[in-house]
Amino acid sequence: MIPWANAVFSGNEKKYVMEALDSTWISGGYFVDTLEKEFLGYHETDYGLSVSNGTTALHLALLAAGIKTGDEVIVPGFTFVAPVNMIVACGATPVFAEIDKETWLIDPASIENAITNKTKAIIVVNLYGNVCDMDPICAIAAKHDLLVIEDNAESPFSTYNGRYSGTIGDIGCFSFQATKTITTGEGGFVITKHKELYDEMRIIRDHGMQKDKRYWHTHIGYNFRLTNLQAAIGLAQLEQIDTIIADRQRIYKKYKERLVGQTGIQLQHYAENVDPVVWALVLKIDQKVFNRDRDALIQAMKEKGVETRPGFYPCTVLPLYAEYTSSPFPICEDVAANLISLPFFVSLPDTDIDYICDTLLTLRNPDEI
Ligand SMILES: *Cc1c(COP(=O)(O)O)cnc(C)c1O
Repeated sequence: MIPWANAVFSGNEKKYVMEALDSTWISGGYFVDTLEKEFLGYHETDYGLSVSNGTTALHLALLAAGIKTGDEVIVPGFTFVAPVNMIVACGATPVFAEIDKETWLIDPASIENAITNKTKAIIVVNLYGNVCDMDPICAIAAKHDLLVIEDNAESPFSTYNGRYSGTIGDIGCFSFQATKTITTGEGGFVITKHKELYDEMRIIRDHGMQKDKRYWHTHIGYNFRLTNLQAAIGLAQLEQIDTIIADRQRIYKKYKERLVGQTGIQLQHYAENVDPVVWALVLKIDQKVFNRDRDALIQAMKEKGVETRPGFYPCTVLPLYAEYTSSPFPICEDVAANLISLPFFVSLPDTDIDYICDTLLTLRNPDEI
C-alpha cells in the first residue's frame, strides 16, 4: 500500500531528542527557545510562539484578539473544521463565506457580503499549500477594521507576492501535526505583527500568568505549550527545510507532468503571485469521466494499493453547524464533493507517482476521454 502521508526523520531528530532527554529539560528548554528563534528568523519576523498544536494556535489567536460571545468571525465554508470549532469555543458565531472555483480558497467578494456590525475578524484558510488572495482581503479588513487571522497549517513556506504566508495578516497560525510539511508529532506556532497581541498570547498560553510574577494570574489562561522533546524534533525538521521544499517541488512537478490536461481532472489553481510549497496534491474529478463518484474512486484506488483521501465536508453541510447556515454554498459543496487527495510526502519516489497516476488514469471510462 502506498500511504497518503509518511513522516520522514532523516536529520538530527533522534540526536536532538536524546539531547533533550539527557538535559532533563523536557517541558520548556533549549529546543523550545531555539525552534522559536529559528522559525521566527526564517519568517523574518519578531513576534511569535510555539504552541501545542495548530488548533490551539487558532484558539490562542482568537482569545488574544478578544473574540467572545456576540462577535461574528468570517471563515470559508470549505475548510478543515478546526478554525470553525475554535470560533465556537470562544462563544462567537462563525459566518461562512464562499470559495473560488479554481483556487478553492475564500472568495474576497463573499467576505464583503458577509460583514455585519458584529463582525470582528476573518479567518482565511490556506489550503493544500495554496495562499489566499491577501491584498483584497487585507483591504476589506482595513476598511471595516477587522482582524485577519491566517490559518496557515497547510501552507507554511509558501509565498504571496514574495512574502511568507502566515506573516501577511495580523496573526498566522501553523501546525506541526504528523502529516504537515514540518512536524513535531503534534505541535504548532503563532506569528503576529503586533507586540500587544504577542504579549497577550504569551500570557494566555501559560495559564494567564505574569511572566515576572509567579502565580499572579491576570487572564483566564490555558496550557498551550509545546514540549522541549517535540521542539527537538521540530528544530531538526527546520534544519532540513531546503531539502523538504526541494522534494515537495520535485513531487509536484512530476504529478503535474502526468496529470495536467488529462480529461476529467482539474488541479488546484495557484495565482501568479503565489509560489506554493505544495502540501497535498488534490484533484477535482469529473464523476462522469471516472464513471463513479469520488468515494467509489477512493475505494477503487485502495483496491490497487494506493491510499487517497477525500476533500473536507464543507461546514455548510455538517448538521453540527446547521444553525449557522441558512442558504446553500454551491461552490463549497461542488468542490468538496469531488476532491481526491493523492499520496504526497518527501520520500515518495517518482516510480510510485507513475504507478499512482497510471492507476488513476486507467480508472476513467475510455468512451469519455
Ligand atoms: C491540520 C490543520 C489544522 C489543525 O492543526 P492541528 O495541529 O492538527 O491541531 C487547522 N487547520 C487546518 C487547515 C489544518 O489542515
